[in-house]
Amino acid sequence: MSDLEQMYQQVILDYAKTRRGSGLVTPDAASVGESHQVNTTCGDEITLRVGLDDDRITSLSWEGQGCSISQASASMLAELLDGADLRTADETMEAFKALMHSKGVPLGDEREDLLEDATAFVGVGKYPARIKCALISWMALRDAIARATVGTEG
Ligand code: ZN
Repeated sequence: MSDLEQMYQQVILDYAKTRRGSGLVTPDAASVGESHQVNTTCGDEITLRVGLDDDRITSLSWEGQGCSISQASASMLAELLDGADLRTADETMEAFKALMHSKGVPLGDEREDLLEDATAFVGVGKYPARIKCALISWMALRDAIARATVGTEG
């Protein structure tokens, strides 16, 4: 398998095609946060919305366009973290970021367990230009959670 084929593993293509959490919904939640992110390098764009109840993500939806990597990443994120508590979300975000900066080297079992199918993105870490594509939805999630959290305090 060539590096390029490895980057576009079937599982990534599947997630890009069957978009989990795609289509923005209005959450029935205690607090709501939304974030819009653009990756100008590639033209990827995403709007991600979360609903939080206490420390749990009770709603996670997004809308976006761009390359397969960015769409698959958002799709995977939604499947992994819709319903997760904020601590798990934070750990998963950190693990995914670490995966993107591992230059193609797999992470340890503990973090791979958190990431489940998202470990398929390991090959993307070898292509610095594509790392942003994979991370854009995760940046949107972090920002949306921060906005929702500020909302509850205000
Ligand atoms: Zn892209």
